[in-house]
Amino acid sequence: MCGIIGMIGNSNVAHELAFGLNMLQHRGQDAAGILTFGDRFRLKKGCGLVDQVFDGATLDSLSGNMGIGHVRYATQGSNEQSEAQPFYLNYPFGIGMVHNGNVSNFSELARQCREDENHIVESTNDLELMLYLLANELSKRNTTPWTASDVFAAVEASQKQIFGAYASLAVIAKRGLLAFTDPHGIRPLTMGRRKEGNGWTYAFASETASLEVLGFEITRELMPGEAIFVDTAGEVHSKLLHQKKPAFCVFEYIYFAREDAVFRNHVVAEARSAMGKTLAHRFREKNLSPDVVVDVPSSAYFFAESLARELGVPYQPGFVKNKYVGRSFIMPTQQLRSRAVRMKLNPIASVVKGKKIAVVDDSLVRGTTSERIIQLLREGGAKEIYFVSAAPPIKHPCIYGIDMSIRTELLAATLSEEQVGKAIGADAMIYQKLSDIEQVFQDVGLCHACFSGEYPTESATADLKFVEAERMTHKKQNSH
Ligand code: AMP
Repeated sequence: MCGIIGMIGNSNVAHELAFGLNMLQHRGQDAAGILTFGDRFRLKKGCGLVDQVFDGATLDSLSGNMGIGHVRYATQGSNEQSEAQPFYLNYPFGIGMVHNGNVSNFSELARQCREDENHIVESTNDLELMLYLLANELSKRNTTPWTASDVFAAVEASQKQIFGAYASLAVIAKRGLLAFTDPHGIRPLTMGRRKEGNGWTYAFASETASLEVLGFEITRELMPGEAIFVDTAGEVHSKLLHQKKPAFCVFEYIYFAREDAVFRNHVVAEARSAMGKTLAHRFREKNLSPDVVVDVPSSAYFFAESLARELGVPYQPGFVKNKYVGRSFIMPTQQLRSRAVRMKLNPIASVVKGKKIAVVDDSLVRGTTSERIIQLLREGGAKEIYFVSAAPPIKHPCIYGIDMSIRTELLAATLSEEQVGKAIGADAMIYQKLSDIEQVFQDVGLCHACFSGEYPTESATADLKFVEAERMTHKKQNSH
């Protein structure tokens, strides 16, 4: 998962792009980058947080009134600087691009490109491939002057070849800023505008808050398969292109997005509260009555607070989180992941001691975090521990850009609810039901492939094999 932002206006955009990226930092901490266009492309990207990659002088040097930015969360590829976005091409057109998602038929597309004699670069990265395909389609429509319909025709042609999830932004040199999404609209992208003198500055970002803090009025979200092109004269063109059944990523609501984000008219905080409420049914079914509900900070707060309210028991913060420890999830070995969880979370003794505790986390993937958390609660003197996952059992890997491992590492892929509870050392295990989530989002077409195995895109079975093989290779390399 990554965060993206783009802007086109009448003055330099780099500083504002960096502010906006900062607001998206929770979506990726591995690398950050900004590309601008004024008289030519200017690019800076590197590993680390936005504040580590950019200082004032660097942002001053990134002149240009249109630009794009990216924060990266390493998934399939390696965590190297060479994978950091944006990427750009100077030939046959000047195009710079960022995306959030994953091209699931990458291997097949890369093979086709290798056979194309005009394509001389070996693509190792799905964005590079998208860039090449779009440039190729644009060059087939090289009319002078270009019109927005030429741009849309090129996007539509590439949407028909690229399967998977992508919310993408592209700076087309001297022409404008292009935003487009995959035909299922799996990843989010929102548009905003801000009055500037006699004209408007337009911006796009993965989450609404990123635009709101910059004073933009939220115009709307891009629909599945839609493209919006803002040309250098400030004209906005939009078109619904290749569209398929809507399948918005349910994990955005469960884990990825900040609580103040709004997707498809659902505020994430409210959606989490609604999901917390449905978890109470599962407690009643199992006849469990905890003394207190605690959350695993910080993404589980709204689930836990509303579950407690529904059960009529107190919610209390049960852990203190050290915000300055790096991500445990992505550490290469189980031992390191385990140690990192211990450094990150410490229980508050008075909340835990002698109590029957319902502990809520947003999800359970490999079970490392939950196992450690249960140990911590036991060491803190908890009487009974009911572990609650606000997500249903994750049984299938994600091929759309979320780092959800290979099947063999997903605890719930082979174990029942009860067995998962035993494996992590809980006295009881409670999972959300997918049918309850569907009730909450009756008006949203969701992608819930990680729970149901129903992948919305074409060639998903073949793509899944490739994605798993890739991850196995990385795993082996990392363990050496
Ligand atoms: P695990 O320890 O492997 O079971 O991972 C579950 C924990 O990681 C939960 O606390 C989640 O908040 C967090 N998490 C879930 N999915 C992801 C993801 N794709 N990337 C990073 N962290 C995640």
